[in-house]
Amino acid sequence: MNLNESIENTASVKCPSCGMFAFNSEIVCSQCNYPLKGTEKDQKDFLFHQDLRSSDLYHLTNELKKARNRLYFIAGIFVFSGFIMYATNQSSPDAVTTLILNLIIAIVFVGLGGYCEKRPVLCILTGLVLFAVIVIGNAILDPASIVRGIIFKVAAIVLLINGLTSAREVEKIRDQYPSL
Ligand SMILES: [Zn+2]
Repeated sequence: MNLNESIENTASVKCPSCGMFAFNSEIVCSQCNYPLKGTEKDQKDFLFHQDLRSSDLYHLTNELKKARNRLYFIAGIFVFSGFIMYATNQSSPDAVTTLILNLIIAIVFVGLGGYCEKRPVLCILTGLVLFAVIVIGNAILDPASIVRGIIFKVAAIVLLINGLTSAREVEKIRDQYPSL
């Protein structure tokens, strides 16, 4: 390798895909895998697929927002039903405890919603498991509770399962395209 060649190899070029600087010697961009040394067709194909992936991600980010809002919605339902149960059951010694429990669960769901952007699968999965545990736990303590709000319970589980599918897709695309 002569001097000119080594200068050439350490000079940097701007990656047309992600805008990061890459060494001339690099065959693919270390940030986004853009084929710096590929044929014109390779490069066009890469950008085309990345555009496609970007629009996928845009779509999935929207799905993710929906999933997050579902977690917030469930939090809202726990607050709402907590106060309803408290108002209708004030004489019961458990009234305050039930209200506090509902509010704590609501806070957990708000927290999961807030963290959803960073770890979508984890958050939605946790929300789903938590929700299932609460429903099953209530059913064991009070079998009559199964039918109470059954439509809401089924809807919440379906919404969270749909959210989980989207969250998985988002994480898969993020793994494949770290620059997105
Ligand atoms: Zn790049």
